[in-house]
Amino acid sequence: MGLTGIQIFKLLPKTNCGECGVPTCLAFAMNLAAGKAELDACPYVSDEAREKLAEASAPPIRQVAIGAGERAFKIGGETVMFRHEKTFYNPTGLAAMVSSDMGSEELDNKLKAWNAFQYERVGLNLRPELVALKDTNGDGAAFAAAAKKIAEESEFGLILMSENLDALKAAAEACANKKPLLYAATGENAEDLGALAKEKGLPLAIKAESVEDLIALSDKLTEMGLKDLVLDSGSREIRQVFQDQVVIRRAPLKAGNRSLGFPTITFPCEMASNLDVETMIAAMLIAKYAGIVVLSDFRGDSLFPLLLERLNIFTDPQRPMTVTQGIYEIGGPDENSPVLVTTNFSLTYFIVSGEVEGSRIPSWLLIMDTEGLSVMTAWAAGKFAGDVVGTFVKKCGIADKVAHKKIIIPGYAAAISGDMEEELPDWEVIIGPRDASLIPKFLKDMAK
Ligand code: SF4
Repeated sequence: MGLTGIQIFKLLPKTNCGECGVPTCLAFAMNLAAGKAELDACPYVSDEAREKLAEASAPPIRQVAIGAGERAFKIGGETVMFRHEKTFYNPTGLAAMVSSDMGSEELDNKLKAWNAFQYERVGLNLRPELVALKDTNGDGAAFAAAAKKIAEESEFGLILMSENLDALKAAAEACANKKPLLYAATGENAEDLGALAKEKGLPLAIKAESVEDLIALSDKLTEMGLKDLVLDSGSREIRQVFQDQVVIRRAPLKAGNRSLGFPTITFPCEMASNLDVETMIAAMLIAKYAGIVVLSDFRGDSLFPLLLERLNIFTDPQRPMTVTQGIYEIGGPDENSPVLVTTNFSLTYFIVSGEVEGSRIPSWLLIMDTEGLSVMTAWAAGKFAGDVVGTFVKKCGIADKVAHKKIIIPGYAAAISGDMEEELPDWEVIIGPRDASLIPKFLKDMAK
């Protein structure tokens, strides 16, 4: 559980030197407690105090790193039940299952197809991270060979699923550089798998029959010195899985239960008979509160909505996604190219810039800082008012780049044109389309 400001204050030097950016140690402590400051901002914290603060301020749900390279990711590290309380930090990892008896060609085709599922959205590359490799026939050599192939021929991280200790060990050695997740320690094999995970420095999943059993297994493995655990409550029934996820999230956050303070892994692929239903279950589990969801396959029409849902849920609700204020060149504009202005909400920028690019008419796009608000919201909040936009146009330097004085504003902000013209008496303010999809036609008509 986090420390209060006063508890943190007691561990600070109390010299009020102000080097951390606030005038007093108490103010800094309050900011730390509220998550508005980093401990490193104070250069005078003793090592002992730093250790105590780090331990006490560790998130109640441990952050666990899985994979290496391009698609490495972290799960857990969460501090709240609901994203509006603060934010969710580490997006749910998306995995698809392959079996060790799959032919080499079929595995190649799967990896190739799955690797192609990458979507550009608001400047981000949305894609899945994991392949879950299941040992289906106890053939350790085939299991290890498949693990090696996936590790060497794809960017995906790995979940190695086997009940055979030797097979798991061979596969872990074949792809150790990928830092795979070992699945799963149970009541029967916890000591052996715990020892393997510890020796290889790998994260380990625990599978139990119930949440109560999970606690006992988690305590046992923690006593063995394992830190990076991932929990599977064992249920494959929708209602029970949902309930387990809530209990596992709530226990460390609300009751300080460290035994359940780990991210979870869930298996929609074992809870439904087709990918559509799996996708609906996965959608529920991304919202509440799975660290990893494993599907039977990746298919575009299933994966894309899950990636978008995940993006939305794991975006900080207190910080709109923004792009930097400035002049953006699209398609190599010159002094005669049109000039458009809009807000710095990421989605607005990427939609408008995409449409301008699609028009094939080189243009200047002015992006004004509206604290990440979209056009209508910024206008309603007075952050995209005519005089403010006019001042921005004057100061941004666009007048030095073009030989004309025409500026296109979003159709939804038509009401600001009068005030803009007052602020920019030499400029002609042109009202553009309301819908960004009409921008190409609008620009082409203007060019004629
Ligand atoms: Fe206190 Fe450290 Fe901030 Fe100085 S830098 S005021 S010692 S918290």
